[in-house]
Amino acid sequence: KAALEKIKNYPEYLTQTTNPIVIQTQETMAKLLFAEDKYQQAFEELQVYVEALKKQHKDDLETSEQQAFEKLSNTITAKENEVLKLENELQSKELNDEKLRSRFMLVMVILFAVITFFVTLLLRKNQKLRKDLKLLATTDELTQLYNRRKIMSELSKRFIDFKTTDSPLYVAIFDLDLFKNINDSHGHNMGDEVLKAVAECAKANIGEDNYIGRYGGEEFLVVLTSGDYETNHARLDKLRVAVSELTIRHLSYPVTISIGLSEATQQDEFQTDVIHRADKALYEAKKAGRNQLKGA
Ligand code: GH3
Ligand code: MG
Ligand code: MG
Repeated sequence: KAALEKIKNYPEYLTQTTNPIVIQTQETMAKLLFAEDKYQQAFEELQVYVEALKKQHKDDLETSEQQAFEKLSNTITAKENEVLKLENELQSKELNDEKLRSRFMLVMVILFAVITFFVTLLLRKNQKLRKDLKLLATTDELTQLYNRRKIMSELSKRFIDFKTTDSPLYVAIFDLDLFKNINDSHGHNMGDEVLKAVAECAKANIGEDNYIGRYGGEEFLVVLTSGDYETNHARLDKLRVAVSELTIRHLSYPVTISIGLSEATQQDEFQTDVIHRADKALYEAKKAGRNQLKGA
């Protein structure tokens, strides 16, 4: 009975933490009342005890549900964070890859530009070399006129034209008169200067449709491809006069040339046939006293 009195007030301290003790107390109270044969009170107390126990279980269940839910949502949040982290990593990796790709492209573009530049440079140089080589192979170094090979090749083409289409063709050879004397009296360099001056004068006087080249030492070959015999004769005689009127530094007397002119005929088999006639005419001019033009 004393114990019953002692624990009677316990239910008043019902709180969240004391709950299990209070419930326990109520059971004890029910047992004690039962022992005292207070069946009605014991029964009521037992009912309260059962209700409290139910409530306790219900609360426990709710708490554990809540905890489970919280745990689950924490796990979900953690997983979401992991996914986000992975996504970020993936994005930065993609960004890195993109950076690498664009850097690679830039390097390729620069490399391509450099290669193109050097190839173009080489091609240009090669082109220039070819041009220089061609010029070297066809030009006489001293006079800058066609060399013998080139003027002969031009004559060859014109001779074929003449044979096939009967287009006009005349050949003239001119030779500097007593040129040896200039070399002997004024030196070889002066001789060279005279050759250059005569070549320049001839180039300026032969006309656009015609070709001139250095045939030998101080002999030049002119290929005339337009007009008739008289026109070409007059043109060459004008050249002869022009040479004789040249003033050459440190040379006190005039330079003259003798010219032999020939016309191609259909009887000519080779271009050299026309040249031979011009050569003969030149010989005649020399024989007749030089500074003359003779036709074959
Ligand atoms: P002709 O009127 O009969 O032609 O007399 P020429 O003295 O002109 O003829 P010749 O054949 O006796 O002499 C030609 C000279 O031309 C001889 C040679 O030394 C000279 N000669 C040939 N080529 C060159 C050259 O490139 N430079 C110089 N300075 N002289 C040259
Ligand atoms: Mg001569
Ligand atoms: Mg000669």
